[in-house]
Amino acid sequence: MKTNIKNYNLDILKEELKRIGEKPFRAEQIFKWIYQEKVDSFDKMTNLSLELRKKLDENFTLGIFKIVKKLESIDGTKKYLFDVQDENGNMIESVLMQYHHGYTICVSSQIGCKMGCKFCASTGIPFERNLLAGEIVEQILAIERDTGITISNIVFMGIGEPLDNFDNVMNAIQIINNPKGLNIGARHISISTSGIVPKIYELADREEKIQCTLSISLHSSNNKKRSEMMPVNNAYPIEELIKACRYFIKKTNKRISFEYALAKDNNDNLEDAKELVKLLDGMLAHVNLIPINPIEKGKYTKSTNENIIKFRDYLNEHGIVATIRRELGSDIDAACGQLRRKNLKNK
Ligand code: SAH
Repeated sequence: MKTNIKNYNLDILKEELKRIGEKPFRAEQIFKWIYQEKVDSFDKMTNLSLELRKKLDENFTLGIFKIVKKLESIDGTKKYLFDVQDENGNMIESVLMQYHHGYTICVSSQIGCKMGCKFCASTGIPFERNLLAGEIVEQILAIERDTGITISNIVFMGIGEPLDNFDNVMNAIQIINNPKGLNIGARHISISTSGIVPKIYELADREEKIQCTLSISLHSSNNKKRSEMMPVNNAYPIEELIKACRYFIKKTNKRISFEYALAKDNNDNLEDAKELVKLLDGMLAHVNLIPINPIEKGKYTKSTNENIIKFRDYLNEHGIVATIRRELGSDIDAACGQLRRKNLKNK
Protein backbone atom coordinates (compact mmCIF):
# COMPACT_ATOMS: atom_id res chain seq x y z
CA MET A 1 0.00 0.00 0.00
CA LYS A 2 1.17 3.51 -0.78
CA THR A 3 1.92 5.84 2.13
CA ASN A 4 0.60 9.35 2.50
CA ILE A 5 3.59 11.58 1.78
CA LYS A 6 2.19 14.14 4.25
CA ASN A 7 2.99 11.78 7.12
CA TYR A 8 6.66 12.66 6.69
CA ASN A 9 8.35 15.66 8.19
CA LEU A 10 11.13 17.18 6.10
CA ASP A 11 13.94 15.06 7.54
CA ILE A 12 12.06 11.82 7.12
CA LEU A 13 10.99 12.73 3.60
CA LYS A 14 14.67 13.17 2.73
CA GLU A 15 15.31 9.63 3.96
CA GLU A 16 12.32 8.30 2.03
CA LEU A 17 13.57 9.91 -1.16
CA LYS A 18 17.01 8.37 -0.67
CA ARG A 19 15.28 5.03 -0.23
CA ILE A 20 13.68 5.29 -3.67
CA GLY A 21 16.97 6.45 -5.21
CA GLU A 22 16.32 10.20 -5.32
CA LYS A 23 18.35 13.17 -4.14
CA PRO A 24 17.33 14.37 -0.66
CA PHE A 25 17.21 18.05 -1.73
CA ARG A 26 14.10 17.21 -3.74
CA ALA A 27 12.29 16.97 -0.41
CA GLU A 28 12.36 20.75 -0.08
CA GLN A 29 10.91 21.23 -3.55
CA ILE A 30 8.20 18.69 -2.81
CA PHE A 31 7.43 20.33 0.53
CA LYS A 32 6.99 23.64 -1.23
CA TRP A 33 4.55 22.15 -3.72
CA ILE A 34 2.52 20.46 -1.01
CA TYR A 35 2.45 23.09 1.71
CA GLN A 36 2.94 26.38 -0.11
CA GLU A 37 1.49 25.81 -3.57
CA LYS A 38 -1.01 23.38 -1.98
CA VAL A 39 -1.28 21.17 -5.04
CA ASP A 40 -3.55 18.14 -5.02
CA SER A 41 -1.59 15.92 -7.41
CA PHE A 42 2.04 15.01 -8.06
CA ASP A 43 1.43 15.90 -11.67
CA LYS A 44 1.17 19.57 -10.77
CA MET A 45 4.73 19.65 -9.34
CA THR A 46 5.95 21.09 -12.59
CA ASN A 47 9.59 21.77 -11.73
CA LEU A 48 10.15 18.06 -11.11
CA SER A 49 10.89 15.79 -14.03
CA LEU A 50 8.01 13.76 -15.42
CA GLU A 51 9.91 10.67 -14.39
CA LEU A 52 10.16 11.78 -10.78
CA ARG A 53 6.50 12.79 -10.65
CA LYS A 54 5.60 9.33 -11.88
CA LYS A 55 7.85 7.72 -9.31
CA LEU A 56 6.30 9.76 -6.50
CA ASP A 57 2.87 8.74 -7.67
CA GLU A 58 3.90 5.08 -7.67
CA ASN A 59 5.28 5.26 -4.13
CA PHE A 60 3.09 7.76 -2.30
CA THR A 61 -0.33 9.35 -2.11
CA LEU A 62 -1.15 12.96 -1.25
CA GLY A 63 -3.93 11.83 1.11
CA ILE A 64 -6.48 14.28 -0.28
CA PHE A 65 -9.75 14.37 1.70
CA LYS A 66 -13.19 14.56 0.23
CA ILE A 67 -15.55 17.21 1.60
CA VAL A 68 -18.73 15.40 2.63
CA LYS A 69 -20.48 18.36 4.14
CA LYS A 70 -19.75 22.03 4.64
CA LEU A 71 -21.83 24.23 6.89
CA GLU A 72 -21.47 27.96 7.09
CA SER A 73 -22.58 30.02 10.05
CA ILE A 74 -23.96 33.52 9.91
CA ASP A 75 -20.80 34.61 11.76
CA GLY A 76 -18.59 33.21 8.98
CA THR A 77 -17.53 30.07 10.84
CA LYS A 78 -17.27 27.13 8.49
CA LYS A 79 -17.53 23.56 9.59
CA TYR A 80 -16.27 20.71 7.43
CA LEU A 81 -17.04 17.03 7.55
CA PHE A 82 -14.30 15.17 5.71
CA ASP A 83 -14.11 11.66 4.38
CA VAL A 84 -10.52 10.67 5.18
CA GLN A 85 -10.60 8.14 2.32
CA ASP A 86 -9.52 5.16 4.39
CA GLU A 87 -10.85 1.63 3.91
CA ASN A 88 -13.48 2.12 6.62
CA GLY A 89 -15.10 5.28 5.29
CA ASN A 90 -14.15 7.23 8.41
CA MET A 91 -15.12 10.87 8.77
CA ILE A 92 -13.74 13.70 10.84
CA GLU A 93 -14.55 17.34 11.47
CA SER A 94 -12.58 20.54 11.30
CA VAL A 95 -13.76 24.09 11.90
CA LEU A 96 -12.58 27.34 10.36
CA MET A 97 -13.08 30.43 12.49
CA GLN A 98 -12.41 34.05 11.73
CA TYR A 99 -11.07 36.32 14.44
CA HIS A 100 -9.85 39.88 14.10
CA HIS A 101 -6.26 38.62 14.18
CA GLY A 102 -6.77 36.14 11.34
CA TYR A 103 -8.10 32.71 10.55
CA THR A 104 -7.95 29.79 12.97
CA ILE A 105 -8.56 26.14 12.20
CA CYS A 106 -9.67 23.77 14.89
CA VAL A 107 -8.30 20.36 13.94
CA SER A 108 -9.20 16.85 15.06
CA SER A 109 -6.44 14.56 16.32
CA GLN A 110 -8.30 11.24 16.52
CA ILE A 111 -11.31 9.52 14.97
CA GLY A 112 -13.41 9.47 18.09
CA CYS A 113 -12.09 9.92 21.62
CA LYS A 114 -11.45 7.69 24.63
CA MET A 115 -11.71 10.33 27.32
CA GLY A 116 -15.46 10.09 27.95
CA CYS A 117 -16.08 13.68 29.14
CA LYS A 118 -19.76 13.80 30.06
CA PHE A 119 -20.51 17.09 28.29
CA CYS A 120 -18.81 16.23 25.00
CA ALA A 121 -20.51 15.14 21.78
CA SER A 122 -17.80 12.54 21.10
CA THR A 123 -18.74 10.55 24.19
CA GLY A 124 -20.85 7.48 23.52
CA ILE A 125 -19.53 7.05 19.99
CA PRO A 126 -16.88 4.37 19.58
CA PHE A 127 -13.23 5.37 19.29
CA GLU A 128 -11.91 4.33 15.87
CA ARG A 129 -8.22 5.20 15.66
CA ASN A 130 -5.54 7.85 15.87
CA LEU A 131 -5.16 10.24 12.98
CA LEU A 132 -1.82 10.11 11.20
CA ALA A 133 0.27 13.26 10.88
CA GLY A 134 -0.69 13.54 7.22
CA GLU A 135 -4.37 13.44 8.11
CA ILE A 136 -3.89 16.20 10.65
CA VAL A 137 -2.15 18.53 8.19
CA GLU A 138 -4.55 17.65 5.36
CA GLN A 139 -7.39 19.18 7.39
CA ILE A 140 -5.62 22.52 7.11
CA LEU A 141 -4.70 22.11 3.45
CA ALA A 142 -8.17 20.94 2.44
CA ILE A 143 -9.72 24.06 3.98
CA GLU A 144 -7.08 26.33 2.45
CA ARG A 145 -7.69 24.77 -0.96
CA ASP A 146 -11.44 25.11 -0.58
CA THR A 147 -11.44 28.72 0.58
CA GLY A 148 -8.24 30.16 -0.88
CA ILE A 149 -7.35 31.74 2.45
CA THR A 150 -4.16 31.38 4.47
CA ILE A 151 -4.47 30.15 8.02
CA SER A 152 -2.61 31.87 10.80
CA ASN A 153 -3.56 29.78 13.87
CA ILE A 154 -4.12 26.12 14.63
CA VAL A 155 -5.87 24.79 17.71
CA PHE A 156 -6.00 21.09 18.55
CA MET A 157 -9.53 21.37 19.92
CA GLY A 158 -11.46 19.23 17.47
CA ILE A 159 -12.34 15.60 17.99
CA GLY A 160 -9.89 13.53 20.04
CA GLU A 161 -7.31 13.91 22.77
CA PRO A 162 -4.08 15.16 21.15
CA LEU A 163 -1.86 13.95 23.99
CA ASP A 164 -3.30 10.46 23.52
CA ASN A 165 -1.86 10.58 19.98
CA PHE A 166 1.38 12.23 21.02
CA ASP A 167 3.84 11.16 18.32
CA ASN A 168 1.60 11.86 15.35
CA VAL A 169 0.55 15.22 16.78
CA MET A 170 4.19 16.20 17.39
CA ASN A 171 5.07 15.13 13.89
CA ALA A 172 2.18 17.14 12.43
CA ILE A 173 3.29 20.17 14.44
CA GLN A 174 6.78 19.92 12.96
CA ILE A 175 5.27 20.04 9.47
CA ILE A 176 2.88 22.87 10.35
CA ASN A 177 5.69 24.84 11.96
CA ASN A 178 8.47 24.23 9.40
CA PRO A 179 9.25 27.38 7.35
CA LYS A 180 9.29 25.15 4.28
CA GLY A 181 6.06 23.49 5.39
CA LEU A 182 2.95 25.43 6.46
CA ASN A 183 5.19 27.97 8.19
CA ILE A 184 2.84 28.70 11.09
CA GLY A 185 4.75 29.96 14.14
CA ALA A 186 4.72 27.68 17.16
CA ARG A 187 3.14 30.42 19.25
CA HIS A 188 0.17 30.23 16.91
CA ILE A 189 -0.34 26.52 17.56
CA SER A 190 -2.28 25.41 20.65
CA ILE A 191 -2.66 21.95 22.06
CA SER A 192 -5.66 21.38 24.29
CA THR A 193 -5.71 18.46 26.70
CA SER A 194 -8.15 16.97 29.15
CA GLY A 195 -5.11 16.47 31.41
CA ILE A 196 -2.96 13.45 30.61
CA VAL A 197 -0.32 14.27 33.20
CA PRO A 198 2.69 12.18 32.03
CA LYS A 199 2.31 13.62 28.53
CA ILE A 200 2.27 17.18 29.90
CA TYR A 201 5.71 16.49 31.40
CA GLU A 202 6.87 15.03 28.11
CA LEU A 203 5.59 18.06 26.23
CA ALA A 204 7.30 20.40 28.69
CA ASP A 205 10.59 18.60 28.15
CA ARG A 206 10.24 18.91 24.39
CA GLU A 207 9.07 22.49 24.47
CA GLU A 208 12.55 23.92 24.10
CA LYS A 209 12.22 22.73 20.55
CA ILE A 210 8.50 23.10 20.00
CA GLN A 211 7.20 26.19 21.83
CA CYS A 212 3.49 25.74 21.19
CA THR A 213 0.78 26.91 23.57
CA LEU A 214 -0.85 24.58 26.08
CA SER A 215 -4.52 24.68 27.05
CA ILE A 216 -5.89 22.60 29.88
CA SER A 217 -9.55 21.62 29.94
CA LEU A 218 -10.10 22.17 33.64
CA HIS A 219 -13.86 22.80 33.99
CA SER A 220 -13.77 22.45 37.78
CA SER A 221 -11.27 22.97 40.60
CA ASN A 222 -12.89 20.37 42.74
CA ASN A 223 -11.94 16.70 42.36
CA LYS A 224 -15.40 15.36 43.03
CA LYS A 225 -17.06 17.61 40.49
CA ARG A 226 -14.28 17.29 37.94
CA SER A 227 -14.33 13.50 38.14
CA GLU A 228 -18.06 13.57 37.48
CA MET A 229 -17.55 15.67 34.38
CA MET A 230 -14.28 14.13 33.22
CA PRO A 231 -13.34 10.52 34.08
CA VAL A 232 -9.67 11.30 33.31
CA ASN A 233 -9.64 13.10 36.66
CA ASN A 234 -9.81 9.73 38.44
CA ALA A 235 -6.48 8.78 36.91
CA TYR A 236 -4.88 12.23 37.18
CA PRO A 237 -6.52 14.31 39.90
CA ILE A 238 -6.28 18.08 40.06
CA GLU A 239 -3.25 18.28 42.38
CA GLU A 240 -1.20 16.18 39.98
CA LEU A 241 -2.47 18.10 36.99
CA ILE A 242 -1.55 21.45 38.52
CA LYS A 243 1.86 20.14 39.53
CA ALA A 244 2.48 19.15 35.90
CA CYS A 245 1.25 22.58 34.76
CA ARG A 246 3.64 24.34 37.14
CA TYR A 247 6.46 22.21 35.74
CA PHE A 248 5.45 23.15 32.19
CA ILE A 249 5.43 26.86 33.05
CA LYS A 250 8.77 26.65 34.84
CA LYS A 251 10.36 24.80 31.97
CA THR A 252 8.93 26.92 29.15
CA ASN A 253 8.20 30.25 30.82
CA LYS A 254 4.87 30.20 29.03
CA ARG A 255 1.39 31.01 30.20
CA ILE A 256 -1.11 28.16 30.29
CA SER A 257 -4.66 28.70 29.21
CA PHE A 258 -7.31 26.97 31.33
CA GLU A 259 -10.58 26.14 29.62
CA TYR A 260 -13.61 26.30 31.86
CA ALA A 261 -17.00 25.41 30.37
CA LEU A 262 -19.72 26.84 32.57
CA ALA A 263 -22.73 24.61 33.22
CA LYS A 264 -25.73 25.91 35.08
CA ASP A 265 -25.89 24.98 38.79
CA ASN A 266 -22.91 22.70 38.33
CA ASN A 267 -19.64 24.60 38.27
CA ASP A 268 -20.75 28.20 37.81
CA ASN A 269 -21.37 29.67 41.24
CA LEU A 270 -19.15 31.94 43.32
CA GLU A 271 -17.91 29.04 45.44
CA ASP A 272 -16.52 27.49 42.27
CA ALA A 273 -14.90 30.76 41.28
CA LYS A 274 -13.32 31.01 44.74
CA GLU A 275 -11.90 27.49 44.46
CA LEU A 276 -10.50 28.34 41.05
CA VAL A 277 -8.77 31.46 42.34
CA LYS A 278 -7.19 29.42 45.09
CA LEU A 279 -6.06 26.72 42.71
CA LEU A 280 -4.41 29.04 40.21
CA ASP A 281 -2.95 31.37 42.80
CA GLY A 282 0.35 32.83 41.60
CA MET A 283 0.37 30.85 38.39
CA LEU A 284 1.17 32.22 34.94
CA ALA A 285 -2.33 31.43 33.73
CA HIS A 286 -5.25 32.67 31.73
CA VAL A 287 -8.80 31.40 32.10
CA ASN A 288 -11.00 30.97 29.09
CA LEU A 289 -14.64 30.80 30.10
CA ILE A 290 -16.92 28.98 27.68
CA PRO A 291 -20.69 28.84 27.98
CA ILE A 292 -21.20 25.07 27.82
CA ASN A 293 -22.71 23.89 24.57
CA PRO A 294 -25.47 21.46 25.56
CA ILE A 295 -25.42 18.11 23.75
CA GLU A 296 -28.39 15.94 22.99
CA LYS A 297 -29.52 14.02 26.11
CA GLY A 298 -26.69 15.62 28.08
CA LYS A 299 -27.24 16.59 31.69
CA TYR A 300 -25.53 19.97 31.48
CA THR A 301 -27.15 23.19 30.39
CA LYS A 302 -25.68 26.59 29.69
CA SER A 303 -25.09 29.04 32.52
CA THR A 304 -26.97 32.29 32.40
CA ASN A 305 -25.13 35.28 30.94
CA GLU A 306 -25.43 36.95 34.30
CA ASN A 307 -23.61 34.09 36.04
CA ILE A 308 -20.93 33.93 33.39
CA ILE A 309 -20.17 37.62 33.79
CA LYS A 310 -20.20 37.36 37.59
CA PHE A 311 -17.82 34.43 37.40
CA ARG A 312 -15.45 36.32 35.10
CA ASP A 313 -15.55 39.46 37.21
CA TYR A 314 -14.78 37.52 40.36
CA LEU A 315 -11.70 35.98 38.74
CA ASN A 316 -10.52 39.30 37.35
CA GLU A 317 -11.01 41.04 40.67
CA HIS A 318 -8.90 38.37 42.34
CA GLY A 319 -5.88 38.60 40.10
CA ILE A 320 -6.74 35.99 37.48
CA VAL A 321 -7.01 37.05 33.87
CA ALA A 322 -10.25 35.59 32.55
CA THR A 323 -12.10 36.14 29.32
CA ILE A 324 -15.36 34.80 27.96
CA ARG A 325 -14.95 32.95 24.72
CA ARG A 326 -17.09 34.30 21.93
CA GLU A 327 -19.45 31.58 20.81
CA LEU A 328 -18.87 30.93 17.14
CA GLY A 329 -20.95 28.79 14.85
CA SER A 330 -23.52 27.67 17.40
CA ASP A 331 -26.12 27.70 14.61
CA ILE A 332 -24.16 25.02 12.72
CA ASP A 333 -23.34 22.57 15.51
CA ALA A 334 -19.77 23.81 15.62
CA ALA A 335 -19.03 22.28 19.01
CA CYS A 336 -16.59 19.43 18.88
CA GLY A 337 -17.96 16.19 17.49
CA GLN A 338 -21.54 17.23 16.89
CA LEU A 339 -21.54 16.90 13.14
CA ARG A 340 -19.77 13.54 13.11
CA ARG A 341 -22.16 12.29 15.76
CA LYS A 342 -25.18 13.35 13.72
CA ASN A 343 -23.80 11.78 10.58
CA LEU A 344 -23.09 8.45 12.28
CA LYS A 345 -26.58 8.39 13.76
CA ASN A 346 -28.16 9.00 10.37
CA LYS A 347 -26.36 6.01 8.90
N1 SAH B 1 -9.48 16.40 24.20
C1 SAH B 1 -8.95 17.72 24.21
C2 SAH B 1 -9.25 18.55 22.98
C3 SAH B 1 -10.59 18.41 22.34
S1 SAH B 1 -11.97 19.15 23.16
C4 SAH B 1 -9.41 18.43 25.47
O1 SAH B 1 -10.17 17.86 26.23
O2 SAH B 1 -8.96 19.53 25.72
C5 SAH B 1 -11.71 20.87 22.99
C6 SAH B 1 -12.34 21.69 24.08
O3 SAH B 1 -13.77 21.72 23.94
C7 SAH B 1 -12.06 21.17 25.48
O4 SAH B 1 -11.76 22.24 26.33
C8 SAH B 1 -13.37 20.53 25.84
O5 SAH B 1 -13.50 20.39 27.22
C9 SAH B 1 -14.35 21.48 25.21
N2 SAH B 1 -15.70 20.95 25.02
C10 SAH B 1 -16.08 19.72 24.61
N3 SAH B 1 -17.41 19.63 24.57
C11 SAH B 1 -17.90 20.83 24.92
C12 SAH B 1 -19.22 21.35 25.08
N4 SAH B 1 -20.29 20.60 24.84
N5 SAH B 1 -19.33 22.64 25.48
C13 SAH B 1 -18.25 23.40 25.71
N6 SAH B 1 -16.99 22.96 25.59
C14 SAH B 1 -16.81 21.68 25.21
